[in-house]
Amino acid sequence: MPSARASVLTAFNAPLELRDLPLPDKLEAGAVLVRTEMAGICGTDVHLWKGQLPIALPVILGHETVGRIERLGAGVDRDWSGRPLAVGDRITWNSAISCGACYHCSEKKQPTRCAQRRAYGIGHRCDQPPYLLGGYAEYHYLSPRTTIFKLPADLPTESVIGAGCALITAIHGVERTGIAWRDNVVVQGAGPVGIAALAVAKSAGAGQVIVIGGPRHRLDMALRFGADHVIDLDDVRDPAERLKRVRELTGGYGADVVLECVGIPQAVVEGMELCRDGGKYLVLGHYCDAGPVSFNPHVITRKQLQVFGSWSSEPRHLKQAIEFLRANQERFPFHEMVSHRFTLDRANEALAMTAGWQVAKCVFVPSAP
Ligand SMILES: [Zn+2]
Ligand SMILES: [Zn+2]
Repeated sequence: MPSARASVLTAFNAPLELRDLPLPDKLEAGAVLVRTEMAGICGTDVHLWKGQLPIALPVILGHETVGRIERLGAGVDRDWSGRPLAVGDRITWNSAISCGACYHCSEKKQPTRCAQRRAYGIGHRCDQPPYLLGGYAEYHYLSPRTTIFKLPADLPTESVIGAGCALITAIHGVERTGIAWRDNVVVQGAGPVGIAALAVAKSAGAGQVIVIGGPRHRLDMALRFGADHVIDLDDVRDPAERLKRVRELTGGYGADVVLECVGIPQAVVEGMELCRDGGKYLVLGHYCDAGPVSFNPHVITRKQLQVFGSWSSEPRHLKQAIEFLRANQERFPFHEMVSHRFTLDRANEALAMTAGWQVAKCVFVPSAP
């Protein structure tokens, strides 16, 4: 039986295992089989690896993937935007599928909150058919109703994977929060989500964008992406001093909008203080439950803050992201985020490197020799 190599998470905090998994001999109607061209390693994969999110094992990780269509199931002839699809086309897709019919999907129009929603590389076991439901593998099975997007020829795969799930997460978050023309924006965090939030804020019309984070190479990337000011956490260790800097840079008032892209509870306490009175605060970085923090709700009332949350993204955000990436390859060079390439047999090295938060972005190129 023909098979595909996959790097499999079989136990938390243990090395991933290289396994051969069966390729489907017949595709169900609406499904697509893809040969993986590149798969990104997201920070969330590190949390999954460490067992910080409740998932059933074994799982093929990887929810940021680009591949070429190998086989098309019956009835699949267009992508989500209506472009024709054919064998050999280079595509990407939303990692999660919502049901489309429940209270959250159809009545409240918030499909990211669908209880049936499951994501490739996270919510699918790989010890049962169709097995190949994650990015860290030579082939990826796309179930019926996956929202697929054909990639324009002039958009490099590196741009799509470099932006990864961070960009669509940031597009959704900024959409929910709103940024007005010339707003002063603070981004807390200079990881992939922070860099993406910076790019989205800038393109949404923000005036100054101030990025608070580290280490230095990430802040250099933030400057490359157009940050007006960066505040290095290694240099400015006192939150009171960071608040003073932000106020100085914003006419004494604080930021109109603060985007939290850190995932550390204490950053939320600091972030609300960085807002001006009447400002907006987005908590975007807490995909994992990092635990509680104590804060004074008086701050929200007194400052008349608007506080927002945003979970993952919808198909339309991926469509917007592809158009955005294509139009802004010079201004926002997401392809430069791809810093280290690995074959599947070096998955543990790649995850460990990502876990060290010292590199921009590790990716798998499964077909590499
Ligand atoms: Zn992710
Ligand atoms: Zn639903």
